[in-house]
Amino acid sequence: MKTSVTSVHLLDGGTLDVESSVVVPGRRYGRRLTVPVQMFLVGTSGGYVLVDTGNDPAVIDDPVAAWGPRLAGAARPRMEPRHHPVEQLGLLGLSPADVTMVVYTHLHHDHAGGGRLFTDAVHVVQRTEHRWALDPDPPAAGAYLPSDLSPPRSWRLVDGDRHVLPGISLVHTPGHTPGHQSVMLWDVPDLGNIIVAGDAINTHENIATDAPPGITTDAVAASFSMRRLTALADATDAIVVAGHDLQQFQAMPKAPDRLVRTARWPAGDLD
Ligand SMILES: [Zn+2]
Repeated sequence: MKTSVTSVHLLDGGTLDVESSVVVPGRRYGRRLTVPVQMFLVGTSGGYVLVDTGNDPAVIDDPVAAWGPRLAGAARPRMEPRHHPVEQLGLLGLSPADVTMVVYTHLHHDHAGGGRLFTDAVHVVQRTEHRWALDPDPPAAGAYLPSDLSPPRSWRLVDGDRHVLPGISLVHTPGHTPGHQSVMLWDVPDLGNIIVAGDAINTHENIATDAPPGITTDAVAASFSMRRLTALADATDAIVVAGHDLQQFQAMPKAPDRLVRTARWPAGDLD
């Protein structure tokens, strides 16, 4: 397959402060854990693709007003003006109008909150995820915000695995949510193959302990999805970027620098 991915930039969306076991179940129950909120800007010969959009930028001014007291208290976002997607794109001399496609791993509050900024883009998500986000079962509803899905936008709803563009594959990885997907980027210059796992793998500790994320709608499916991704990574010599791994995040080059393999990353104790 001829790749068209020319670059990847990691955009910094701030952090959340969550209870530890929502990341790795059963671990350090009751302790708080700081985790990054990540977005990935993928340069292609046909334009820019953004994978995930972080928190609703209204969180910068008032998390409780943006998210409600329950979610703001549970996830405790720390988002400064510099974490606004517009500011992050500005580091590269770009604006939301330069993004032609937004791909969501899933539609949770910390992945879909900036979507409304990209009015010129087509918005790609699994059909199952879109349907679920509009009407989740009550125990799962707290992580979805109706405000993240408004105003209406140009959706492209996909079913299962897809090559969405040359060099960009969607891998359906249900379990954290019913329609979760991960994004495989093939043959990226100075990176090779890379899997943006999203919340199919929250941290590399999930892999090391063979424990899927603590928040799931189907824990068995989540285990299979995690193993599918690690097998795919092994078979293709791909780097796995976990969804909320602070140690990995701190080691990765961030915008305005291009994401490339470095001495610090992905080497070291991340393996
Ligand atoms: Zn999530």
